[in-house]
Amino acid sequence: MKLSLDKKHEDFRDEVRTFLKENLPAELAEAGRLNTSSFSEPQHNLPWLKILNEKGWAAPHWPKEYGGTGWDEMQKYIFASECARAGTPSLSPMGLQMVGPCIMGYGTEEQKAFYLPRILAGEDYWCQGYSEPGSGSDLASLQMKAVSDGDDYILNGSKIWTTQAHHANRMFCLVRTSSDGKPQQGITFLLLDMKTPGIRVEPIITIAGEHEVNQVFFDDVRVPKSGRLGEEDDGWTVAKYLLEFERGGGSSAGLEAALERVLVMAHAEPAGGGTQLASDPAFARRYADTKIALESIVITEKRVTAALASGGNPGPASSMLKTARTETLQRIDELALEAAGLYGNVSQMAARQPGANIEPVGPAHSLTAMPRYLNNRAATIYGGSNEVQRNVMAKLLLRL
Ligand SMILES: Cc1cc2nc3c(=O)[nH]c(=O)nc-3n(C[C@H](O)[C@H](O)[C@H](O)COP(=O)(O)OP(=O)(O)OC[C@H]3O[C@@H](n4cnc5c(N)ncnc54)[C@H](O)[C@@H]3O)c2cc1C
Repeated sequence: MKLSLDKKHEDFRDEVRTFLKENLPAELAEAGRLNTSSFSEPQHNLPWLKILNEKGWAAPHWPKEYGGTGWDEMQKYIFASECARAGTPSLSPMGLQMVGPCIMGYGTEEQKAFYLPRILAGEDYWCQGYSEPGSGSDLASLQMKAVSDGDDYILNGSKIWTTQAHHANRMFCLVRTSSDGKPQQGITFLLLDMKTPGIRVEPIITIAGEHEVNQVFFDDVRVPKSGRLGEEDDGWTVAKYLLEFERGGGSSAGLEAALERVLVMAHAEPAGGGTQLASDPAFARRYADTKIALESIVITEKRVTAALASGGNPGPASSMLKTARTETLQRIDELALEAAGLYGNVSQMAARQPGANIEPVGPAHSLTAMPRYLNNRAATIYGGSNEVQRNVMAKLLLRL
């Protein structure tokens, strides 16, 4: 979105641009550009987090007292937008956007003092243990048991689709501490150490050939009760709070950068010759529709970010945002694949595998078109499927 900035924000944008120019190493920018998953691998996002943290810019959306920047909404937008343009590696949202705000909201003073600085410094890398085989959309049906034993809980069961669990040293998870009452009752929210004996992480390879998600098995895993966030049997309250940050947090700056890349691709020489895709009226119409959808997301996003930043509850707006963003993301991926043409074929994916001795062909941006398209099919499923988000909107907005 073209912004007309006042002097303060223009100066801020220039400051961010200069910082990125001077501090974003070329190899991290390259890794950010080639990333095709929902966020980068820790080998790339942790060094970038360290650089940001040294500058005090790791968590723009956190309150200042916990290490936030104190920026206004426009500054946060400008920062996200400049990072997306520069191709910075995308930071893991699990600590900064998800469990961090929950620890601020529900943690004890000891938990805040211990965990929050470790998230900023990248000393802790978190994963989310919500879903189980058979409990995804109907999350409250989860069965992983936590039995009280003195100062500990003993965990048995399994979590699935756990993104980057193979890299994480900590997990925030939901466990069942009681089977009495409604399914939502009897759930407890725990913070645990992934190195605890009895935890086993098994990979699940995605359709794009990548190892991003896992199944995690728990066999008599002893977790101290000091790792509980909120009250026993009241974890559902914390879980719902976190989901609003998961769905409402982040920004569409990455989508805007991706759509700009599509335009560059559409103006490129097509594989095998012929006219540029940009001159095709049908493509131009789909591009324009997508751009309009994206602009309306930016406006909703500002309202949600403002509500979250002022400690408010964005309510159904976070479901609207999650649905609109992920569906627009998929539209952009479709345009990118179309623009990559023959260069977007599946064999390009093989060239991206570590150690592959295959030279990719065609322009650099076409290399990521197919894996992004495949990976992002999951975007309308994770974080609560879009069908379920529509149920939330129907209930809360339309009162159906
Ligand atoms: C790539 C990826 C990464 C993920 N990462 C994590 C993670 O890090 N941590 C974590 O805990 N989970 C993670 N998930 C799990 C994700 O949250 C669940 O997949 C999601 O909530 C859907 O649950 P499910 O897979 O069990 O599908 P189901 O709930 O079985 O749904 C199957 C289909 O039925 C539809 N459906 C279900 N209920 C309704 C309803 N009431 N009304 C209308 N339609 C309905 C769904 O929309 C879906 O299309 C991830 C998933 C993916 C794909």
